[in-house]
Amino acid sequence: MITNIQKYSIHDGEGIRTTIFFKGCPLKCSWCHNPETQSFETEFFHYDQRCVGCGKCGGKYYEDCVNNAWEICGREITAKELCNEVQKDQAFYETSGGGVTLSGGEVLAQDISFIVGLLQNLKIRGIEVNIDTCGYVDFSRFEAVLPYTKSFLYDLKLMDADKHKKYTGVDNNLILENLKKLSENKASIWVRIPVIGGVNDTNKNMVETAEFIKSNDINPEHIHLLPYHNTGCSKYQQLGKKYDGSFTTPSKEKLEEYRRIFESHGLTNIYIGG
Ligand code: SF4
Repeated sequence: MITNIQKYSIHDGEGIRTTIFFKGCPLKCSWCHNPETQSFETEFFHYDQRCVGCGKCGGKYYEDCVNNAWEICGREITAKELCNEVQKDQAFYETSGGGVTLSGGEVLAQDISFIVGLLQNLKIRGIEVNIDTCGYVDFSRFEAVLPYTKSFLYDLKLMDADKHKKYTGVDNNLILENLKKLSENKASIWVRIPVIGGVNDTNKNMVETAEFIKSNDINPEHIHLLPYHNTGCSKYQQLGKKYDGSFTTPSKEKLEEYRRIFESHGLTNIYIGG
């Protein structure tokens, strides 16, 4: 089940990409900017549309305008339909060094035989695939997709297990163990750290993250510090969910400081942003 197919994406790996958002995630991050991808079930966006009196319809659709509008969120799609859709932009992938990114939600929490079939199909068509993951799945799922995946975009949110549980609903042990195993399997890894003001934006968390990466001989190709933004907050309202508005966007100076922390641990290719 997917929520969206986003074309011309440039923040989910190299080149121009098509990003597919799968619906359902084992985590429930308080700051998630795609809350519609958390539940594995179909949901509805509710738009409280009010007639603004523009007059363009001559009053014909006034009744419709004042009615509340609903949009279904989540649709099932076959692997073949997905492949055919993303293949339309194959020329862009080839000229830019891009491809497809499977994201969500958590793609590896989907029916894994479906995902492997999709990856095999894309490989036959010559389309490279990145997987964007929160890491909270059984490692056998990583093993199943490893042969067909160019890079894993791997989220590391918080090193403190209790805080991790408080803000995401689960502790971080499985996530950290899977990252170690993925590295031992020589996978290409991009570590992505959402920097959430009021949650993980501390020197302590960044030092512990850098130490974890170094001490386990993980060699990420990139490390991305992704500053929090609140662009998803209206979606919470549309889904009838409560949004915690207490998070803040870290300053440029703070992000630079965090970059220096990673560099001081001998890590390279540290980027601010996607
Ligand atoms: S892991 Fe990502 S998709 Fe899942 S809840 Fe957290 S931010 Fe949202």
